[in-house]
Amino acid sequence: MTDSNGDGKLEVKQASKEVKESENVAEKYSAMTVKNTDMNVGELSAAFTAVPTLKSVKKIQFANQEDKQEFSKFPTKAGRRSLSRSISQSSTDSYSSAASYTDSSDDESSPREKNQANTKGNSDFCVKNIKQAEFGRREIEIAEQDMSALMALRKRAQGEKPLAGAKIVGCTHITAQTAVLVETLVALGAQCRWTACNIYSTQNEVAAALAESGVAVFAWKGESEDDFWWCIDRCVNTEGWQANMILDDGGDLTHWVYKKYPNVFKKTQGIVEESVTGVHRLYQLSKAGKLCVPAMNVNDSVTKQKFDNLYCCRESILDGLKRTTDVMFGGKQVVVCGYGEVGKGCCMALKALGAIVCITEIDPICALQGCMDGFRVVKLNEVIRSMDMVITCTGNKNVVSREQLDRMKNGCIVCNMGHSNTEIDVASLRTPELTWERVRSQVDHVIWPDGKRVILLAEGRLLNLSCSTVPSFVLSITATTQALALIELYNAPEGRYKQDVYLLPKKMDEYVASLHLPNFDAHLTELSDEQAKYMGLNKNGPFKPNYYRY
Ligand code: NAD
Repeated sequence: MTDSNGDGKLEVKQASKEVKESENVAEKYSAMTVKNTDMNVGELSAAFTAVPTLKSVKKIQFANQEDKQEFSKFPTKAGRRSLSRSISQSSTDSYSSAASYTDSSDDESSPREKNQANTKGNSDFCVKNIKQAEFGRREIEIAEQDMSALMALRKRAQGEKPLAGAKIVGCTHITAQTAVLVETLVALGAQCRWTACNIYSTQNEVAAALAESGVAVFAWKGESEDDFWWCIDRCVNTEGWQANMILDDGGDLTHWVYKKYPNVFKKTQGIVEESVTGVHRLYQLSKAGKLCVPAMNVNDSVTKQKFDNLYCCRESILDGLKRTTDVMFGGKQVVVCGYGEVGKGCCMALKALGAIVCITEIDPICALQGCMDGFRVVKLNEVIRSMDMVITCTGNKNVVSREQLDRMKNGCIVCNMGHSNTEIDVASLRTPELTWERVRSQVDHVIWPDGKRVILLAEGRLLNLSCSTVPSFVLSITATTQALALIELYNAPEGRYKQDVYLLPKKMDEYVASLHLPNFDAHLTELSDEQAKYMGLNKNGPFKPNYYRY
């Protein structure tokens, strides 16, 4: 369990409370089997009955002037403390689909200057080029094929329209997989307005396809700082339409609403937040008593953290490195900084291809895990001279310093898999004595005066999301969790959720997983009555206490 308060004692107390509440949920919904993926939405909703796993102690306060000032003090991911920061940190984390049709668009005019309408004459959107909608539709259809659980949810809940009346404003990466989520929400009855959480991540053709289908989408690849906030504003601030749900990735949308339109929260039924950063901000708000609506922390759902972070990175680290450098992994010396979920996924993949991998860690538990998995735990300075690749996965800042970059050998590949572009001190490489040579899209050679070259990928931004695609299947797991969280918050009876940050109940994590099992023709073993009694479990789950770590 995450210790949002940095307070070990509190954590222990909360954990025991969670177990108790989780057992209550199991008892209450014993009729519902996790294997039964035909649950209706009423059951889904019931399954969510509040298990607040990270309780804040403070009460609601609707945002007022003071609140606004307070909110503006929350550190951004980059540790800055002002709303007037030059640009959203998450917005600068590059995430561009390598499969995008529109990467090399030569249309330089700003979408804000264009008058565009879809084929139905609707012009409530702003995308790069609405004419690309057909290409985008094909991308979405490809993604749908590997997002069968989300499609199944769409089909099952469509009759009930559990999101009828929901007005969802979303701020996420706008990719084909996101489009499948957005169209699922629409199929379930929601009206959606959508913007990008990252200035580089939008697949223009996908944004066009969404606009063509009637979603008010404001996003294009390569937005300026001003565009970024303008797009968010256009999503929130529109005549005759007020959001009652927020789906955020990184917290920038939530941040903007707090800053500019605090009254929106009076009608908002909940916030669903995906990212580590956004969740961190929500817990800070909650701790300060400033959170004025219930929020779901999707990031810490097992089905997000253990799949998106671990398996997604296990698959995409090699893809990103191959596409950019054509590197051969066998026999290469690699250091992976951070042996959390992302680091473990990267190490697994690199080791499997014959790379000689060592890791750095600050946490003795993760370091010991690394030892047990057969990796040498080192300090970066001890090995920096001999490494062929340096990969950061810490979520921290300045993990690779200029001094260490100076000491790397010729041809060393340097890249980052963490969320922010803060892990490698890229700014320190922008000095006159170093020459930058762009050799491919997202690949720079940084050349020292003696001719040494370091190969820097994606300017230190997330490698996999900048230079490769990520598996739709993994995103289906996260998107299904997001959709269920929205359904639950929207349908929850008054009082079920307070102004607090909640984790999804274990039962729902299990349900999301069960929806994805048919893809593998996986057959779950059922507990016998005798076994269930012996283990003290409900036959239908949840099968683990909330503190179980998987
Ligand atoms: P985590 O907390 O499980 O792991 C991070 C690890 O880094 C921890 O074990 C921590 O002890 C270690 N660490 C922190 N500072 C360090 C330092 N200076 N040197 C060495 N080790 C250090 O987090 P995670 O789930 O592995 O995520 C890591 C980052 O990756 C986050 O920023 C997350 O948002 C991002 N992420 C990326 C993707 C992707 O597709 N690229 C997917 C999910 C998450």
